[in-house]
Amino acid sequence: MSSEFDEETAVISGQEEESRGEEEEEEEEKKEEEEEDDEGFSVLSELPVEKSERRPTCRRCCRPLKVCLCPFLPSRPLDVSTCLYIVQHPAEESRVLRTVPLLAACLPVAKCRVLVGRRFSEDRYPELAAVCRDSHTLVLYPGADAHNLEELQPHTGDTHTNTHTLILIDGTWSQARDMFLKNTLLQLPRQVQLCSAPSSQYVIRTQPNNMCVSTLECAAVALSVLENDHNIQEVLLRPLRALCSFQLQHGAQVHHSKEQLIRSGEYKKSLPRNKRKIRRMQKLISNHTI
Ligand SMILES: [Zn+2]
Repeated sequence: MSSEFDEETAVISGQEEESRGEEEEEEEEKKEEEEEDDEGFSVLSELPVEKSERRPTCRRCCRPLKVCLCPFLPSRPLDVSTCLYIVQHPAEESRVLRTVPLLAACLPVAKCRVLVGRRFSEDRYPELAAVCRDSHTLVLYPGADAHNLEELQPHTGDTHTNTHTLILIDGTWSQARDMFLKNTLLQLPRQVQLCSAPSSQYVIRTQPNNMCVSTLECAAVALSVLENDHNIQEVLLRPLRALCSFQLQHGAQVHHSKEQLIRSGEYKKSLPRNKRKIRRMQKLISNHTI
């Protein structure tokens, strides 16, 4: 498993002749990131209300019946023309708090497809491959090559309406990065990012920075932009607000983003030794308006 990872990393970064020391650094960095990704959940896993997995679960919102969020969901699925494809890291599926089921419960079944996996090959996922090759498909993944979704120009000479398919990657920060970099299919569509994303409402999960929001929040903002309807965002965020408010009332702590903690000097972890990681953290602080 680990040798496979090293090999893939080397190919991706184009550094086949990476020295041993760097490989170790990379491994250490990965471990640190995994720890950080999980730190928000150590608190949540102790919540009594979530303890038993055998609790009867609501079929619509996938929450335990006692804390069913259906009253906060729209009575009918939202009427949207955009189709969402959510590629979900397998670890997300087993998380205690998941936002994708809430998102799916707000949308028509045909407009929200969830594919679980880490690697998506053309052979095994022909439907996704076709979607990725369609010129109306966008993939939401921030970066230097990404267009701001808010400024996206309609295709010229397109007699079609501006109906899009949007691919979202559901996972922690490092999982999403790994999935994007190692799945060439996901790199085919036009890459977009959100510049109007609100600070995460999902306060009970530590976000690497203020702009890194839950998949539900990303989808809410993106759909509002693509459908030109701010109400969509309000409707989609309602169950998330209810979920956070419920969890906070039952003892979950507010998790500020790492960026906020670093800035206020409250970040408890010792700073990493890895230079690349320190640079990335400094970037987080200085680039907070991205
Ligand atoms: Zn429910």
